[in-house]
Parts: sequence; structure tokens; C-alpha cells
Amino acid sequence: MIDKFTLAYAKQLDEKDELKNCRDKFYIPYIGDKEAVYFLGNSLGLQPKKTQDEVFNVMENWANFGVEGFFMGEDPWLNYHKTLSPILSEIIGAKPEEIVTMNHLTVNLHLLMISFYNPTPTRYKIICEAKAFPSDQYTFQSQVKMHGFDEKDAIVEVQPKAGTELITTEDILAAIEGNKDSVALILFSGVNYYTGQVFDIAAITAAAHNANAYAGFDLAHAAGNIKLELHQWNVDFACWCNYKYLNSGPGAIAGAYIHEKHFANKALKRLEGWWGNDEKNRFKMEPAFTPSPSAEAWQMSTPPMILLAAHKTSLEIFKEVGFGKLLAKSKELSAYLFYILNEINDTKEFNILTPANPDERGCQVSISVRENAKAIFDELLKNGIFADWREPNVIRVAPVPLYNTFEDIFYFVNVLQKLFQDK
Ligand SMILES: *Cc1c(COP(=O)(O)O)cnc(C)c1O
Repeated sequence: MIDKFTLAYAKQLDEKDELKNCRDKFYIPYIGDKEAVYFLGNSLGLQPKKTQDEVFNVMENWANFGVEGFFMGEDPWLNYHKTLSPILSEIIGAKPEEIVTMNHLTVNLHLLMISFYNPTPTRYKIICEAKAFPSDQYTFQSQVKMHGFDEKDAIVEVQPKAGTELITTEDILAAIEGNKDSVALILFSGVNYYTGQVFDIAAITAAAHNANAYAGFDLAHAAGNIKLELHQWNVDFACWCNYKYLNSGPGAIAGAYIHEKHFANKALKRLEGWWGNDEKNRFKMEPAFTPSPSAEAWQMSTPPMILLAAHKTSLEIFKEVGFGKLLAKSKELSAYLFYILNEINDTKEFNILTPANPDERGCQVSISVRENAKAIFDELLKNGIFADWREPNVIRVAPVPLYNTFEDIFYFVNVLQKLFQDK
């Protein structure tokens, strides 16, 4: 049997990798005079080398044309966003008209809950995962309170199975069934930020509809990381940020999805602004709002062109490389990481929190370290590895198919093994 936990083997995998040149499209951070091993694409994706030029083009158009930049120049701003949705369509698994690029993630979550969380005295509960990302918890709590309900009663958190960090689909479906007369909204992440667990969006959505509730998803850790089929799964709404796996820069403009079946639903409430008006008469400045026949009805304000430029640059890389190929490489990277992590863990120095089943995880792998976790994490950085720390003892690493290598993974596990041996 060949030894897979060697530098030579990792290098061989990189050599055979069809996408090995993608890395050259990105600026890789340095630690000292060495390229870092950057495993934080789940936190802030790296900068594409073309982003600065694309942003500069917007600045040039502004300098040259002033407001006429909306209509003049190479890429007039008025239709600039129209090139984004077709690319996102594949990444999100939705029709282009079901996608709108706007605002920021938490803001979009609130705006979509205005439409899809309309509690009544008898049907008012939100079912979500325990330990959801804090911003999501604050969103749920403030929405529930805004509608006059008590968060302790109205928010139902599905807990992980005892002794694990993972939440089973079975338990989620049981929670929906158990609250089927009082639940208004099921809101889960697509991939849990802490464990890297992928939730069964299709099954959760079907169960929600069965209970006459809406199903929405926060895809912050899912967009650009796993295969999604939001339209086909009949998901009501979703939102995500674009600065994690979608490499569109710190505080990037975010995305939202609304299933087309809701476009004509006049009973659905919505907070509206002039950029949600149908583009056909948007600039006639009429007093009555004519909703865009698409997810753009939820758009409120003038699009931020500089942010769109950064987003577009990154999406064009996804288009050029092919999302399917990226997903395939992602699976190979995380399978290799899993394999060699298990190789060095005879002494059970750590526990892998992320599901072992490749269908239940994206590229992120989270490990909880038994002893001296923080000291070990600090040593990683000293060894040129950017990983992520979560209290009390969790290290998260996300090998991203666009710019991480099998050698990165080998190096990380090799350093980890030495740290455990030396401690
Ligand atoms: C990253 C992340 C956020 C961040 O929200 P912003 O509004 O973009 O700051 C929210 N929710 C989840 C699940 C996240 O992973």
C-alpha cells in the first residue's frame, strides 16, 4: 500500500490536478518571506488579481462620465448586475430572475423575514439550529420581539445528538412535526459555521411545507462551497454573503434568492424602495410602486458599483473554471485532509467534529483539540498556517479548491503532528 501521508504523494496530487493553475489568479498572503497556507476562505476569501483593475474601471467611468456612467463606457452601470445572476444561477441552483445582489447578509435576512415571517397568535414559531451564527440568533430574537412574542417560547432550537456536535435530519423533522400547528418559519443555515455540517435542505423544506410553514436558509457557508438546487428543492427564500467562498472582498455586497412562485403573491409583505420598481417604469418616478417581476422587487437602493465590480471579478473566475470542477476538487481536498488527519490521530489528540460522510460536508473541517488547544493553534500561525480559532477548543480549516493545494494540506497535518509530539 502506498503511503499517502508524504510530501511526495501530496505533490503528485497537485501535479495531476487539472485546476492547479487557478491559484495564480489570486494574491496569496505571506508570512515572513513565505507564502502562507491560507485555510480561511470560509472567513474571507482571497483577492483575485483582477479585482483591482475591475474596481479601477468603475472609478475611471465615474471620472470620465459622472452619472452618465450608468449609460456610457464599456460596462454601463445600469445593466452591470445582469451579468452576475446567470453565473450565480449555477452556484445557487436557481433561475437568474430568482436572484438579487443587494445589501449585506444580516440586512437581507431581516428583509426576507419581513416577507416570510408573519406570525399570527397561533402560528408564530421559528425553528432553527442550536448555536446558529450569532447574527442569525440576534435576527430571530429581534424579529420575534418586534412582533410581540416571547423569544423563549417562539424560537425552537434543534439540539445536536447527545455527545456530538451534529444535528440529525431526523431530529429536525421531528421538531417540525412536533410544532406543526404553531410553526411559521423554519430557518437553518445550509452549512453550520462551527462544525461544517451540511443540512438536508430538500428534506427540511419539504417538511416545512408539509407543516404549512415557510423554509428559508442562510447560505453564508454554503454559497460557493457545496452544490445547491434551491429552485428544485422548492426553498422559499435564502440569503448569503459573498466575502467567504465567493471572494468578493471584505463587507462585499450580498445575495438573496426568492422562489419565483412568490413573485406574484400580493399577500406577501415587503419593504420597498425605488430600485425594486420594475425597470420599465422605474425612472418615470411614479407614486405607485410596480414590483419588478423578479427577486429584484426586494431591491431598495442604487447598486454600489465598486462592490459589484469586486463581486463580478470573482464570479467570472467561477464561470471560467466551472463550478462542477471546483466542487469535484473540493471533495478530493477534504477527503485527503480527512484521511491524513485520521492517520496521525492514533492517540486521539483531537476529535473531528465535521461529518465523515462527504455528502454531509463542504470543504471545511473542524477539529476539537483535547489539550493545549490554544497553544497549538498559536503555533500554527508561527508555522505559516492561517487557520481559524473558535472557543473553547476548536480549530477550523477550509481548503478551498480555487487556491489551496494538496501540499498545503500535507504541510498543515505534518505541522500538527509535530506539535502533538512535542507538547
Ligand atoms: C458570516 C456569517 C454572517 C455574517 O453576516 P454579515 O451580515 O455579512 O456580517 C451571518 N450569518 C452566518 C451564518 C454567517 O456565517
